[in-house]
Formats: sequence, structure tokens, C-alpha cells
Amino acid sequence: MHELALAEELLRVCARSLARHPGARLRAARVAVGELSAVEPDLLRYAWEAVCAHGPHAGAELRIEWHAAQQQCPRCGAHAERERGGWLRGCASCGALLQIRGGRELELLDLEIELAASQDAPSCDAARDRGREKAAESSAPEENRV
Ligand SMILES: [Zn+2]
Repeated sequence: MHELALAEELLRVCARSLARHPGARLRAARVAVGELSAVEPDLLRYAWEAVCAHGPHAGAELRIEWHAAQQQCPRCGAHAERERGGWLRGCASCGALLQIRGGRELELLDLEIELAASQDAPSCDAARDRGREKAAESSAPEENRV
């Protein structure tokens, strides 16, 4: 079950971000999981709870954003509708072989943290925004991949 190793890595990345805010508590982490990432969301959530259970981040929530892969026609550009996990070969409009796009994401998007009560709050929103900036900065060459 590689979800356990992934959950540990996610928690390590979260802990690194959290270290910049002494005393802060991790409320939630949001991750994008692509259909083709070979990650089972339920298993990842379960593993996350297990790795958080007895540490300082117990109770932190893992929010999983499911990203489906798309099928698109390279010739006419049509997007093909399909069932989850079911693949089509040919474009319904022109018959060309369909291409698969996206769905390979496995990325930490942002964190929601609760700052220590003693600190005058830049609010949680600010903390979230920082997380988002960070994700945006490093989103280019799949640096946030775990
Ligand atoms: Zn087509």
C-alpha cells in the first residue's frame, strides 16, 4: 500500500511549512489526486489519519480533489464523454484516435493552519493564501509531486 508512504511524505511537507509558524496547528491539507496517479483516495485518507493519529497533527483533515483524466481528439479537438475508468478509442465525430490529457496530478495544493493563540493573527485566510502562493510558485516542473 504505497498510500502510506505518500501520506508520510505529505505530512513531512506540511510539517516543513508549519515550522515557519511556531505553535501553529495543522487543520487541513488539500491535495489534488489524478485519476491516473495510481492513488486510491480512500486509502490515502485512511493512511493520512494513521500517520497523523498520535502526533501533533492528530485530527488534521485531508481534503482530496479528484482530477479526472480527459480524452480529447487531436484532429478535431472534441472532448469525449466517458465513464470513470472507461476509455474510448476513437473520436465520435471524426474517428481519430483519442488522446488522454491530465489526470496524473499528485500535488499538495494548500494548507489550512491555525496559528498559535499568542500570535496576533494574520488570519487563517492569510495562511491559506501563503500556501496557495507557494503551490503556485512551484507548480511548474511538478515540484510538489510526492
Ligand atoms: Zn475528432
